[in-house]
Amino acid sequence: MADIIQLLPDHVANQIAAGEVVQRPASVVKELLENAIDAGSTHIQLIVKEAGKTLVQVVDDGKGMSETDARLSFSRHATSKIRSAEDLFRLDTKGFRGEALASIAAIAHVEMNTSDNDDMIGTSIRIEGGKLISQEATACARGTSMLVKNLFFNIPARRNFLKSNAVELRHIIDEFQRVALAHPDIAFDLFNNGNELFKLPAANIRQRIVHIFGNKTNERLVPVQEETEVVAISGFVLKPEYAKKTRGEQFFFVNNRFIKSPYLHHAIGAAFEGLIKEQNHPGYFIFLDVDPGSIDINIHPTKTEIKFDDEHTIYAIIRSAVKHSLGQFNVAPILDFDRDANLDTPYDYNKAVSAKMPTIEVDSSFNPFREETPVSGGQTSERKTTHFGGSFQSKSNNASWENLYVGLEEKEEFSSIELESEEVTGSLFDDESTATESPTYQLHKKYIVTTIKSGLVIIDQRRAHQRVLYEEFLKNITVQRGLSQQLLFPLKMNLSPTEMSLLMELKQSLESTGFVFSSTEGEAVEITGIPVNVSESETTIVLDQLLSDLQNDLPERGFSQADMVARMLCKSLAVRSGEHLNQTSQQALVNNLFATKQPDISPFNKPTFITLTVDEIDKRFL
Ligand code: ADP
Ligand code: MG
Repeated sequence: MADIIQLLPDHVANQIAAGEVVQRPASVVKELLENAIDAGSTHIQLIVKEAGKTLVQVVDDGKGMSETDARLSFSRHATSKIRSAEDLFRLDTKGFRGEALASIAAIAHVEMNTSDNDDMIGTSIRIEGGKLISQEATACARGTSMLVKNLFFNIPARRNFLKSNAVELRHIIDEFQRVALAHPDIAFDLFNNGNELFKLPAANIRQRIVHIFGNKTNERLVPVQEETEVVAISGFVLKPEYAKKTRGEQFFFVNNRFIKSPYLHHAIGAAFEGLIKEQNHPGYFIFLDVDPGSIDINIHPTKTEIKFDDEHTIYAIIRSAVKHSLGQFNVAPILDFDRDANLDTPYDYNKAVSAKMPTIEVDSSFNPFREETPVSGGQTSERKTTHFGGSFQSKSNNASWENLYVGLEEKEEFSSIELESEEVTGSLFDDESTATESPTYQLHKKYIVTTIKSGLVIIDQRRAHQRVLYEEFLKNITVQRGLSQQLLFPLKMNLSPTEMSLLMELKQSLESTGFVFSSTEGEAVEITGIPVNVSESETTIVLDQLLSDLQNDLPERGFSQADMVARMLCKSLAVRSGEHLNQTSQQALVNNLFATKQPDISPFNKPTFITLTVDEIDKRFL
């Protein structure tokens, strides 16, 4: 093959804003993957060690480089992709700045093996800190292997600035997923420390999404398709009930390039208006095809932002296309905010529970005292699942509640059922400690009012319970391993590869709280034990919530991780306002709150109670 690389003329080079190419290992991943794609590869392997800090390797089967090109590829502004400034407006390749390899080679140990022929004749080059160490002929198959070792070895400040492996790996996985989603026709593999995280065969876009995010995603996808003169739109949105509080599965691609666009994100949000709660974000995988001349992708050095000539029109088209799909696929009508949330729990949670655990079916996730409960579709965090020790206090007339007990002879049996389930799931509070106390009173199903010597205490039930649970979990994770209740029938959860790797990071912390994971294979995790203060029915919901909350910022191991896990767990598990608490639970909550180390504030820094002294009350009567 002929030599194809040319140096950009200076004035063109200057037109390209110079920017920091490499901020972290994920930046190297992005550049190397994009080069491999531009080389026309059909199979690309990404191999990293220690989240890319010690090694990022990309092996491709693309067109490779000639001996001269191999050397030239490391010179600044050396590119085979554009020749003049005009080319910038007709880009159909990922790269064009011609500075990625030069930048990477300047701050790492780089080894490249490349061949542009089928005769096993290739070139091997080693460069360290921008200095050519060696260049020699080598035997290798057509394609290129780039090894980038010891990133920032000569800039300790940058190296020290890198985040924990978990965080850096998260960034790498993000880049990998973006590139893999943009090119479903190319096979991709990702290995970290020898573990295969992703093996993605060449596929169509739907299959690619499912391979990345797990089988459960398939039925959640709603196709979006629209063709106009300005833009062609294709892809999927996730059904509204899978919208999450945290951002995560939101992908825009313009001409097969991942971009971030708050403006277009808003267009999708607008199409979901009325279907999801305000603070939730819909998931989407949207591909836009536009005339390359109508966009400017060069306004940001890392090229994830983009400028459209006709942004308003594109906004309107996206919004109406998504709206149309939601209507057409009958997604909208089933969004009844009052429906039973148990009908659409994630995973096969429902089936698993009802098939294997008939006792749970009876009562453990059901709060008969709940009256005004608009539960939004699929919002697991909203589900009321807490139940307290003691027997039911009042006889509710709620018909749906009674339906659950059809087949049971006597209402009197309720208390024994409740007790039974309590044995299985453990009580939130020790009942013994509640013997001689001031009376408590629940106000508006939200506050617990009780008296102290000097006057009145008004306790926020949710925040108080969060404090109690938080300290319990924190103690279990950091000091003394929590007790575990063994499950008769293991629970199974299906996770996406990303969730699985996150779970592995958190495994130790979670096991200290009492979770027992018996096997983690492929997409499935099996849970055989759970903490005593978690009920079986809420287990998968709590874990699901935890994984989605932590996906974007997982702290390093150690205290900050323990703190984060404890806070997330207490957030999911604490009793909510609107839940009735019986006398025993109220007493227990008050006692347990004041037995904590810091009873006055919640783990989220909000006051847990206020006092009203007799003096203050006296004053108001003046
Ligand atoms: P750019 O991608 O912007 O052109 P790079 O510094 O990333 O700049 O790469 C410089 C040149 O090296 C590319 O233009 C291309 O010709 C060549 N090159 C880099 N990686 C590969 C690869 N994996 N296969 C074939 N050629 C490559
Ligand atoms: Mg490049």
